[in-house]
Amino acid sequence: MSACWPSEEEKWAFWSRLIHHYCGEYQESQVMKDLKAIVGDKECFIVTSNGECHFEMSGFDPEDIYEVEGNWLTMQCSRACHTALYPSLDMAEKMAAAEKDGKVPSEMVPHCPKCGGPMRIHLGIDQEYIEKDAGQRRFQAFLDRDHGKKLVVLELGIGPHDQLIKAPLMRLVDMEPNAVYVTINLGEIYITDDIREKSFGLDGHLGDVLHRLREVCEE
Ligand SMILES: [Zn+2]
Repeated sequence: MSACWPSEEEKWAFWSRLIHHYCGEYQESQVMKDLKAIVGDKECFIVTSNGECHFEMSGFDPEDIYEVEGNWLTMQCSRACHTALYPSLDMAEKMAAAEKDGKVPSEMVPHCPKCGGPMRIHLGIDQEYIEKDAGQRRFQAFLDRDHGKKLVVLELGIGPHDQLIKAPLMRLVDMEPNAVYVTINLGEIYITDDIREKSFGLDGHLGDVLHRLREVCEE
């Protein structure tokens, strides 16, 4: 996030509260339970623009996840002076516990171990964002390995005009001979004409539709 913060103490108060709430206190949701049951022991790969690491925390293998816009549980040098990522959860939990009046204690503010500059959460695509090539490579390897096999692209709640994930996945379905596209969205089903014949648009609340899908899978 490239928001301008009045101080590092306030920036980290915000982030630590967010990370504590959405990650530190995260309990696996019914959606995740249903999704895992649907996937079963089939090979799967997750591409997500969510950064809260809920897939990983729900038991999906981090090796099978590509977070295209980074995630909240790692941080990087704000100046991107080097490409290492550092874990943020423990630090955020300590900060959240120590926060007072919207600020964390100055001595808790992290600094880049190389240049001494500020750190930031590894999230969002901008000039200083360190690209996480590894996730992209893992995704490509998955696609190469399973090229031509039966493939289900299950797209959950992505906006109809998303270019980052939805558009490339629809192109993938178009190119893969044995691919099926399943999109779940409330009132915003969008499927391009070229893949219409191999697609299913399920209009409804994600949680309801996934749960029904799970029941169908288990019947
Ligand atoms: Zn640095």
